[in-house]
Amino acid sequence: MQSSSYFIEATYLLASILFVMGLKGMSHPDTARRGMHLAEFGMLMAVIGTLLHRDIVSYEWIIAGLLLGSTIGAMMGVWVPMTAMPQRTALSHAFGAFAAALVGVSEYSRHGADLSKFTMGAIGFEVLLGALTTTGSLIAFAKLQGLVRGTPVTYRGQNVFNMALLAVTVASFIYLLVNPGASWVFYLMTALAFVFGILLVMPIGAADMPVVMALLNSYAGLASAATGFALSNNVLIIAGTLDGFSGFILSVLMCRAMNRSMTNVLFGAFGSVSADTGAGTTGHMREVVLDDAAMQLAYARQVVIVPGYGMATAQAQHVVRELADVLEERGVTVKYAIHPVAGRMPGHMNVLLAEANVPYSSLYELEQINPELPSTDVALVIGANDVVNPDARDNPGSPIAGMPIFEVDKAKSVIVFKRGKGRGFSGLENPLFFKEVTGMLYGDAKESIAQLVQAVRKA
Ligand code: NAP
Repeated sequence: MQSSSYFIEATYLLASILFVMGLKGMSHPDTARRGMHLAEFGMLMAVIGTLLHRDIVSYEWIIAGLLLGSTIGAMMGVWVPMTAMPQRTALSHAFGAFAAALVGVSEYSRHGADLSKFTMGAIGFEVLLGALTTTGSLIAFAKLQGLVRGTPVTYRGQNVFNMALLAVTVASFIYLLVNPGASWVFYLMTALAFVFGILLVMPIGAADMPVVMALLNSYAGLASAATGFALSNNVLIIAGTLDGFSGFILSVLMCRAMNRSMTNVLFGAFGSVSADTGAGTTGHMREVVLDDAAMQLAYARQVVIVPGYGMATAQAQHVVRELADVLEERGVTVKYAIHPVAGRMPGHMNVLLAEANVPYSSLYELEQINPELPSTDVALVIGANDVVNPDARDNPGSPIAGMPIFEVDKAKSVIVFKRGKGRGFSGLENPLFFKEVTGMLYGDAKESIAQLVQAVRKA
C-alpha cells in the first residue's frame, strides 16, 4: 500500500469514529450540538480523504460540484424556516439517493458483463434503493410542501399492483446476478424502481410522512453502504450502515409512539379519514377571554404547557418561555409536556424550546407528566391537537386508538390556543375541545400568548 493510501484509510477511520461519536452525542439534548459538530468534522475528514484518492483524474468537476453544493446547502441552511425542515430533509434524501443511483448506473455502464456476482449484487441493491428513494423522497417533499395533495391517493387493488411491481423489480435484480451482461434488464429494473418510489409514497398521508422519511433515510443510507461495497470504499460502508440502521430504528420508535405498525403506516392510507369517528364531538366549544385565562394562570400552583405543531408555525416558543418566566416569578410551577410525535419531525418541540433557552430539566415525557395532570391547575395546549385527543384513549374505533396522549382533560382547567376550528394532522375532530373543562382561546398562538403575558403581569 502506498503512503497516500494509508493516509486516506486513516482519514476514513477517523471520519467513521467521529460519525459514531456524533450519533452518540445526538442521543441527548445536552450533547446534541457537540454531536452535530463532531459529525460535521467527520464529514470534512471523509471529503478530504476522498479528494486525495488516486483514481481521481480531474479535479475541475469536483471543485465545481463542491462550490455549487456548498452554496445551495448554505443558502438552504440560512433561509429555510424551521417549520419547513421536514420537506428540506426530504429533498436532501432525494439528492443523496440520486447520487447513489447515478454512481451505480455509471459503474454498471463501465463494467457491465465483467462484474462479479458480488459487485453486481452491490450495484443492483444500490441502484434499486437509490432510485426508489429518489422518487419517494421527491413525492414526500411535494406532499409536505403542499405541491401535491397531502391526503393519501388510493385506488382499488393498489397494494396488489404495488406488490406485483416490486416483485418484477426484484426478479430483474435476481436475473442480473446470474446474467450481469443483460443491460436491458438493468435499465428496466432502474426504471421500475423509480416508478415504485412514487407508488410507494402516494398512498401515504402527509401525517405519516415523517415516519416514511425516516424509512427513506434508512434506504438512502443502505444504498450508500452498497455504493461503498461497489467502490471498495470503507467510509461509505460504515457511514451508510450507520445511517441505514439509525433511520430504521427511528421509524420503528416513531411508529411505537403513535401506536401504529410499520405495515399500517405503509399500507394503511392513514389520514384519508375525514368523517368524525369520535363520540363527544358535537355541541358547543366554550370560549375563554384573555383576562379570565390570565387570572387562572396567575393564581395557579402548577401549570403544564403542551406545545404542538401550531406553536412551531406561529414561532411562539419565545413568548411561551416569557409566559413561563412571568408565572415562575409569581411562584407558579411550570412544566412542559413533550410528546414524541408533537410537531412534524422527531424532536421538533425540543429544538424549538431549546432555541428559546427553556432548560432541559423543565421538559417532561408522557409517563412522567400524565400522573401529575389531575392535580394540575391549568393545562395550556398551544397549537397541539392530535397529541391531546382523548379519542385515542376512549374510542377503540378511532384511527388513532391506542396512541399515547397527554390526558389534559384530567386537569382542573384546560386552555387551548388555536386559530379556529382547524383539525390536527390526522384530520380528526377532537372531543377535548367540547369538554366542560376546556376553554378555547382563538387566535395566532404567538399573538395570543404575547397578550396573555401582559395580562398576567397586570393580574
Ligand atoms: P396537530 O395535531 O397537527 O395540530 C396542530 C394544531 O395547531 C391544529 O389543530 C391547528 O388548528 C393549530 N395551529 C396551526 N397554526 C397555528 C397558529 N399559528 N397558532 C395557533 N394554533 C395553530 O399537532 P400535534 O398535536 O403537534 O400533533 C402532531 C401530528 O403530526 C400527530 O398527528 C402526529 O402523529 C403527526 N406526526 C408527527 C411526527 C413527528 O415526528 N413529530 C411524525 C409523524 C406524524 P387551527 O388551524 O385551528 O389553528
